[in-house]
Amino acid sequence: MWLSDCGCRASAKDKCRSRTDLCLGFVKEPVSGGSNLRPAKLTDALEVLAEAGRHHLVTRPFTDNPDLAGSCAPGRLVAVSDEATCDGCGVCVPVCYFGARSKEGALVDSARCAGCGLCVEVCPAGATTMEKRETAQA
Ligand code: SF4
Ligand code: SF4
Repeated sequence: MWLSDCGCRASAKDKCRSRTDLCLGFVKEPVSGGSNLRPAKLTDALEVLAEAGRHHLVTRPFTDNPDLAGSCAPGRLVAVSDEATCDGCGVCVPVCYFGARSKEGALVDSARCAGCGLCVEVCPAGATTMEKRETAQA
């Protein structure tokens, strides 16, 4: 396992609210070209997850390489559920790590939504979509 600096955070420098070294690689040989690349242990990975949790970051595989995982800041997307389609089953509520889903199902606390998209995948009614945050309802 490997740990390296996140390029986005490294360029943001002091504007970044979390620590910079949040990119994990789950392969024997390093494949990341990130700076500050070093071997990591399980405890390092758990510390990365804890840091992500503290700052409401979304830890997820890189889209172009699932062997790497970054912890991205939320902001671009937010979940929106259609009240008419939602049947209130509540499946999405415990799935949301960020506590953004209510028992009423269709309601999303957009301020807490990190944009991870998990609630979209589990919704049996297809009631939830991800929208750009600027156009989503508050
Ligand atoms: S999983 Fe879908 S249908 Fe069920 S409460 Fe959530 S939004 Fe509504
Ligand atoms: S996308 Fe859904 S599961 Fe993910 S943070 Fe937002 S409301 Fe929660």
